[in-house]
Amino acid sequence: MDNFVVGNGIVLDGMNTFVENGAVFISDGKIEKIGSFEKSRFPDVDFIDVGGRLIMPGFLNPHHHLYSSLAVGLAPACDVDNFVNLLKSLWWKLDASLDEESVYVSAMVGIIDSVKHGVTAIFDHHASMNFVRGSLNTISKAFEIAGIKGLLCFETSDRMGIADAERHIEENIDFFERHRNNRNIKGAFGMHANFTLSEETLNKISDRKPEDMPIHIHCGEDLYDFQYCREFGYSGPVDRLDRYELIDDKSILAHAIHLSERDYDIIGEKRPIVVSNPESNANNRVGKIDRDRIKNFILGTDGMSGDMIATLRSFYLLHGGIDEDFSEMQKSFFAQRYLVQRKFFSETGEFREGMDADVVVVDYVPATEISPENVMGHLIFGAKSSKAYLTISNGKIIYQDGKITFIDEDDFIAEARKIAKKLWERYSSQPAIQF
Ligand SMILES: [Zn+2]
Repeated sequence: MDNFVVGNGIVLDGMNTFVENGAVFISDGKIEKIGSFEKSRFPDVDFIDVGGRLIMPGFLNPHHHLYSSLAVGLAPACDVDNFVNLLKSLWWKLDASLDEESVYVSAMVGIIDSVKHGVTAIFDHHASMNFVRGSLNTISKAFEIAGIKGLLCFETSDRMGIADAERHIEENIDFFERHRNNRNIKGAFGMHANFTLSEETLNKISDRKPEDMPIHIHCGEDLYDFQYCREFGYSGPVDRLDRYELIDDKSILAHAIHLSERDYDIIGEKRPIVVSNPESNANNRVGKIDRDRIKNFILGTDGMSGDMIATLRSFYLLHGGIDEDFSEMQKSFFAQRYLVQRKFFSETGEFREGMDADVVVVDYVPATEISPENVMGHLIFGAKSSKAYLTISNGKIIYQDGKITFIDEDDFIAEARKIAKKLWERYSSQPAIQF
């Protein structure tokens, strides 16, 4: 089905487009037209009637860890009393247990969950310390099958030794170069966090990273990251990266919680992409982004889920609550997100003619009046964490009637369980990573 209309819904992009009884005409993977809904206007074209639901641009998750998908139900290996011990006893142990098969299956499980929640673009931050070379290519296969957009990177770290970081650097640069001209899948330079990167490794990254290759890093997530940078004489984690000339307007900084005055100044000057991950921050008890200091940020899930509306609701509950400035949230959730998405994928985000047809129909029919001004209220209190009704990526339907269209989900999940079992066995025998 190359040409079809999705209509009889509320078409909105949180910015300029709001059509109460509207339709989106999709042709050859692109948005051909947006307008009012009249079935008779499209007599020869297939038509999907969405019954009054919300038709929106597909969501972006700008900070995800698909490798964590098979950790659901897995307990840390010992009592965890702080953030760094949680990494050592759960996440680093898990990623060190991943092999090629489990990397692929994790990616696909996470992508399926994301697509069910209307996500059509994911910035993934990957780690599998004992399967480095080729790991990004393995993940990209799952993206290709699903047909969604991905910005992939490997989290360079010295936690397995400085010599290992060499392979991480190669994997990042190799994948980036091979995907320069790919429309849907691109590479970034992944780094775990300042506190697992030595001066020596940062030097190497600064020397070898192509100038136009963006970084993706956890930055000031926990106080420990901030203190580590101070010990080396830097003002904070952003300052350290900036001194290695790694910060520009395409840098992706996840969290940005524990920062210095100088760090905030650099963010103001160089305008990197700041991703706040409210559910992860609450889960790890690391604090919250300072919204008085950082005005331009977008929301990510940090591996907690693939659900951007649930993340939006969590952000609301954990931040302003009844004092919330909804117009600020709306700017972040829509305009700011589109801006970020288009830095990497120029023809997506936002409802405009000629853009890629990346569309979500949220499974929610408002029972009260909806307007451009109260959209956030409808998403947070009405749609909440509802799954998508329909997800379209590059003009292809990838989720409809509760079913993923690009894979037999039942068969795949049955297979995934077997692979997860083997992964958990390797995890049990994997010692905690000492760093
Ligand atoms: Zn993360």
